[in-house]
Amino acid sequence: MARYTGPACRLCRRQGEKLMLKGERCLGPKCAMERHSPPPGQVVSRRRRISDRGIQLREKQKVRHSYGVLERQFRKYFDEAERRPGITGENLLRVLETRLDNVVYRLGFADSRRQARQLVRHGHITLNGRKTDIPSCLVRVGDEIGWVEGSTRKEPYKRFVATIERRTTPKWLSLDENMSGRVISLPERSDIDIRFDEKAIVEYYSR
Ligand code: SF4
Repeated sequence: MARYTGPACRLCRRQGEKLMLKGERCLGPKCAMERHSPPPGQVVSRRRRISDRGIQLREKQKVRHSYGVLERQFRKYFDEAERRPGITGENLLRVLETRLDNVVYRLGFADSRRQARQLVRHGHITLNGRKTDIPSCLVRVGDEIGWVEGSTRKEPYKRFVATIERRTTPKWLSLDENMSGRVISLPERSDIDIRFDEKAIVEYYSR
């Protein structure tokens, strides 16, 4: 599956908001948003009135970039969210949250979704005991996410174990003493990033 391979910070600058795509770096002074640089492509920053459509588009892009999903796949997730019973916007966020790369990130195996995606792609992660290298794979309740045995001797695993004390596991996931995670329920809206305005995304696709 294709993906955006350009600079992550450029996406934040374009959105005018921190999307936290680079883990620890996003919290420090090296963050491009902290250095007050204008959005890429604009030499002089000007106040512009953004239309409702523009706001909806911006919101959609924000969520899409945060999860690292291309437009075509994002649209598929939206269609899936519409098919499911319940509120479409919440369903959409729930689908995105249950992507394997996001679950790996939420479990704290990686500092960012980008890094989590790389862990999966490079074959460090197991799903229900089997090595899985598909970051977009959707997990279900009861699924178990762990590390490939050989990977527990490698740097990403060691870094994860060394920093485990300061990580918190969301309540819809659990982490056992073997550093293996389990999906105990589907995430509620309250478990997902509050910054996202999913209603604006529904309105964007409803026109
Ligand atoms: Fe965005 Fe993180 Fe880059 Fe800051 S460091 S601009 S939050 S990706």
